[in-house]
Amino acid sequence: MGLCSINYQSQFEAAIDRLKNENRYRVFANLERDAARFPTATWRPDDPSEQARQVTIWCSNDYLGMGGHGKVRAAAIDAIEKHGVGAGGTRNISGTHQPIVQLEVELADLHGKDSALVFTSGWISNLASLSVIAELMPNCLILSDALNHNSMIEGIRRSGCEKKLWRHNDMAHLEELLIEAGPDRAKLIAFESLYSMDGDIAPVGRIVELAKKYNALTYVDEVHAVGMYGPRGGGICEREGVMGSIDIIEGTLAKGYGGLGGYIAANAAIVDAVRSYAPSFIFTTTLPPAVVAAARAAVRHLKESGDERARHQHMAALTKHALRAAGLPIMQNSSHIVPLMVGDAELCKAASDLLLTRHDIYIQPINYPTVDIGTERLRITPTPRHDEAHVAELVEALVDVWRTLDLPFVEPQVIPLRRLRAIVDAVDPQCAYPEMKKAAE
Ligand SMILES: *Cc1c(COP(=O)(O)O)cnc(C)c1O
Repeated sequence: MGLCSINYQSQFEAAIDRLKNENRYRVFANLERDAARFPTATWRPDDPSEQARQVTIWCSNDYLGMGGHGKVRAAAIDAIEKHGVGAGGTRNISGTHQPIVQLEVELADLHGKDSALVFTSGWISNLASLSVIAELMPNCLILSDALNHNSMIEGIRRSGCEKKLWRHNDMAHLEELLIEAGPDRAKLIAFESLYSMDGDIAPVGRIVELAKKYNALTYVDEVHAVGMYGPRGGGICEREGVMGSIDIIEGTLAKGYGGLGGYIAANAAIVDAVRSYAPSFIFTTTLPPAVVAAARAAVRHLKESGDERARHQHMAALTKHALRAAGLPIMQNSSHIVPLMVGDAELCKAASDLLLTRHDIYIQPINYPTVDIGTERLRITPTPRHDEAHVAELVEALVDVWRTLDLPFVEPQVIPLRRLRAIVDAVDPQCAYPEMKKAAE
């Protein structure tokens, strides 16, 4: 024994045990994605004596399957051949390559702004941008939606500014806080356009109106909407016709666009300030040319093509309809996200395990702290690459899992399994979901 009596090892073990006791220890699934066969992938169980299996992924954030799109793969390969693998430096020191300059032009155009700035991830975009923007406005008050993403919370915290939460999507509460702050104080309203766990959409038009009325700056996270909503994939604010009134738009290249990276688009002065002041932008190596070229190909493709968006909405509507018809308790929303409620961490994990081991369907359980305790769920994300047969398999598997674990069904009563395929075939999402009609057109 040494002089020191601290047992370092046991402190980490105790921390892990706490998570396990609360049923929120995360277990990762080892997946080998197959670009040609997405959403099918190879899953390798942790136990090396078990065989690898073909599974269907139902929880990917590669929402449109752009990660495997032919144009996107070709752009990445071409960039590697031309420029090699790495960027060779930070943006300031030899790392500002031509593909990233072109991508920033593309993104500024997507959102109708002067400039855009690309970061190594969406998470870093929020950290860097919210912290610098708020910090540079003396005595700034940040008004933050109560359900904002962790990356926004971290950015706000780092700014050192005062923050007030407004109740999720509650416009009366936001207005109250704006009035309370008074006309002489700098105010930054930070929110998401589409909340990824419930799939609900912010009243962006109303937020913009309030921001104008009380002279506040607006910062929107469109991470779950870019590529997927709006005539050119500019997001919910584009679809609602308010993109021009939003001061800072933040997005990711890792979800709808299927790659990696994040960005903001805004007026020239704001972008220049973030570029110049944010350590998490300055002191890190630029994304490599291949990743950036792939993202640009995806952005360009989705500006022109509405096919992926239409099919995405169609498959989401179809999935919701089929689950509802089977009496499975999905949360209602008007987006592409299908939250299937379980309400218990242990059962949620058990449902996920059964889906994988018995039915070759992979849906990761979503537990606290990603969602509140008691609202644990399976978050299902249909893509344009899923088809009707996938939906039928999903419904049959879920009904089996619900019965096996004795989970509650909701109205209407359970439809006999043999009828499910017929239901799925018969669904007309255009009629069932008027709110989807707009997007599908
Ligand atoms: C995923 C996510 C991010 C982070 O984006 P990455 O590109 O994955 O780092 C930011 N905001 C929200 C709301 C997200 O869900």
